[in-house]
Amino acid sequence: MKRESKGTPTLLSEAILKLMKSGNTDWQKPWRNKRFITCQGHYLSGGNLVTLASLSDFDRTVWGTYDQWSWHGCQVKKGAKAVKLTVYKGKDEDGRPKFGKYIAFNIEQVDGDVGKFSGFDTVDINQDTRSDEADALIAKLGSVVKPGNTACYIPSKDEIRMPDFKQFDSAADYYGTRTHEEAHRTGHESRLDRNLKGKFGDKKYAMEELIAELTSCFMCVQLGVISAPRKDHAQYLNSWIQLLSDDKRAFNIAVGKAQQATNYMLNIMGLEIQEVA
Ligand SMILES: [Zn+2]
Repeated sequence: MKRESKGTPTLLSEAILKLMKSGNTDWQKPWRNKRFITCQGHYLSGGNLVTLASLSDFDRTVWGTYDQWSWHGCQVKKGAKAVKLTVYKGKDEDGRPKFGKYIAFNIEQVDGDVGKFSGFDTVDINQDTRSDEADALIAKLGSVVKPGNTACYIPSKDEIRMPDFKQFDSAADYYGTRTHEEAHRTGHESRLDRNLKGKFGDKKYAMEELIAELTSCFMCVQLGVISAPRKDHAQYLNSWIQLLSDDKRAFNIAVGKAQQATNYMLNIMGLEIQEVA
């Protein structure tokens, strides 16, 4: 299927560059995290958040000990693996803070009536409707997508983690993030084989971020989710391009690679970009 181009990568990258020059680096993640909370209604904090955020098996973020769940009439499932957390237990006689172990199970690990906890960890800010067309096209890519409190692509598992649609500020933010992660996925060695071994903050990583964000912008325009590059694309790109010594060359390389990634995905979707002279 050929479709009217809403902007070729060349035209789009010029528009992005303009936005980047006028913009800043104040990119903020476009979703709101679910808060980690106990079934007693206390927010979990500190080092616990690091532990909990690294668990990718659960979509829900409500936790409780075996006894706490029992108290609520719920039963921890047989064989469920607990997570060891630390909780503040007030002060001892000398006024020093006391900490105790908190052996917690996730709400998805218990049986029983958990309906009353539904408001504990839901984020429902995105009032936009999903685009059935975009969803159907993205589904053709066949990616393994698991729920997460953060968005990322894990090359070793070839999996994408995505917050819920409802956690995003808007539909455009959701599709922007989803296509960004799908873009990383095209770099897997079984696909376009880009170098995905960069570490956060180094040059390889920065380059891959540029490629993913440019691809996201191209894809969102092709999917009809946005009609022109958005400020947040430019802000995100600005936050990474500073790490690369020759900005202009780096940008051009990233545009070329993003074009490849875009074509790779459009091909699977059965779409092609019509270059307009
Ligand atoms: Zn990324």
